[in-house]
Amino acid sequence: AQQLLGKTAIVTGAASGIGRETALLFSARGARVLAVDLAADGLESLAAQAAEQGVPLVTHVQDLRVEHAAQQVFDVCHSRFGVPDVLANIAGRGGDKSADATTDEDFDFFVSVNLTTTFRMARQAVLHFGEGGGSVINTSSTFAVVGVGGSAPYSAAKGAVSSLTRQMAADYGPRNIRVNAVAPGLIETPATAPKIRAGQFDDMVTKSRPLPRVGRPRDVAGVFAFLASDDSSFITGVTLPVCGGWSTT
Ligand code: NAD
Repeated sequence: AQQLLGKTAIVTGAASGIGRETALLFSARGARVLAVDLAADGLESLAAQAAEQGVPLVTHVQDLRVEHAAQQVFDVCHSRFGVPDVLANIAGRGGDKSADATTDEDFDFFVSVNLTTTFRMARQAVLHFGEGGGSVINTSSTFAVVGVGGSAPYSAAKGAVSSLTRQMAADYGPRNIRVNAVAPGLIETPATAPKIRAGQFDDMVTKSRPLPRVGRPRDVAGVFAFLASDDSSFITGVTLPVCGGWSTT
């Protein structure tokens, strides 16, 4: 199925985990994809995988925390593809520090990498989307909607991502720009796999008891694809939990 045929999508965090799977799924569904990440080697292997599958995908190495990075990404999108229709803001970094163990530097880092980068990219999206509108999909977390021990600056940043999502949905809906977020539960990716294997997240797995397993990147990528497509044309402002029922039951 080619639900994203004719759409141009920017996917951040595309070198690894959820972002990588999302970039590949968008491509497979017909989108022109600009895959952005700071990890050059990860992007290289993504491009190779996309080429093997015969899908079009362009990569761009960029640290999104750098000033004007977002603007540069949209400039590249314009020169390679033209006007963008979709932004999947997936780049981010998890943490595991409670408030008393969090330094000011830690706090600034997690806010910067999870919230500021998301905001700057979303701001560029609403500046660059065409007359038909577009879809911004941010990445929140179960940590934004339920209290989970030991991740103070991360949870704060992801909570703010959901608030930003609602606010921008309200402001830009009249231009047919939809702004939603996905809130993954525990998903096995290069970021979480070592801790999952070490049993560090066992209590989280049991919390998603309606579907008692760890999520896969594909479980989340499909939801990004839905929110990118016209199948979700009347949905905006939501933070959609993709967590096996952890935060929803
Ligand atoms: P991952 O580490 O596998 O992938 C994240 C990617 O983002 C990496 O390739 C990394 O290089 C990139 N990135 C980080 N900082 C960047 C920057 N400054 N500029 C450009 N790229 C940058 O992680 P993942 O598990 O796939 O997580 C993806 C997103 O999903 C994150 O926002 C994360 O917070 C969120 N999330 C993950 C889980 C989970 O259980 N895996 C749960 C909830 C939310």
